[in-house]
Amino acid sequence: MRIVFIGKPGSGKGTQAKLLSKALSIPHLSSGEILRSEVKAQTEFGKRIKSYMERGEIGPEKLIADTILACIERNGLANSYILDGFPRTMLQAHELDAALPPEFVLHLKLTDDDVISRLSKRIFCPSCEMIYHEESKPPKISGKCDNCGSGLIRRPDDQPHAIERRLEVFSKEVLPIVEYFRQTGRLHEFDASEEPRKIHSKIINLLSA
Ligand code: AMP
Repeated sequence: MRIVFIGKPGSGKGTQAKLLSKALSIPHLSSGEILRSEVKAQTEFGKRIKSYMERGEIGPEKLIADTILACIERNGLANSYILDGFPRTMLQAHELDAALPPEFVLHLKLTDDDVISRLSKRIFCPSCEMIYHEESKPPKISGKCDNCGSGLIRRPDDQPHAIERRLEVFSKEVLPIVEYFRQTGRLHEFDASEEPRKIHSKIINLLSA
């Protein structure tokens, strides 16, 4: 099964992709995680994309498409994948469709106000990428990851100006992809303001129908 998650930043794509990956035993690839690990390792590619990511901009779309497609192949995921954060532009959607077209595109819908309230209080673990929220999902020990004990940080692109930019990028670059997948009969939409377990059950129901 080839599945793609699409949604605004903070809509819970990563959370749902991880839950689904566990439920279906299909590996999950997050383009943001892959790119952040390149930045952390200070590779040439990482140095090139760092400033785009900090500003909340789309990085070089073709280069990133080639990187993610190579990663899918390298990990033996040509027949079954769960992607989050890719594709993010029409060019990337066409590249994915030409190589390994997704069968299900799951759009997690959230209002801009909900995005801002989620991201402005989001803290995350730079080691294992576990996500917390200062009010609704605080860590057990303040500032420490429950999962691996590393120090929690705020993502540079969760600052107000970058959040605003990411929302603009979503409208300009990602919404056309949503329409493209709707027209090709593969789009399924979910209310991302619902409880994560409830959304997960709805996704499982859809995929097992
Ligand atoms: P995310 O973790 O999905 O919010 O992604 C974080 C940042 O990585 C984005 O704001 C972009 O700068 C970059 N990024 C992630 N996926 C892509 C992609 N498919 N194409 C271009 N840039 C991306």
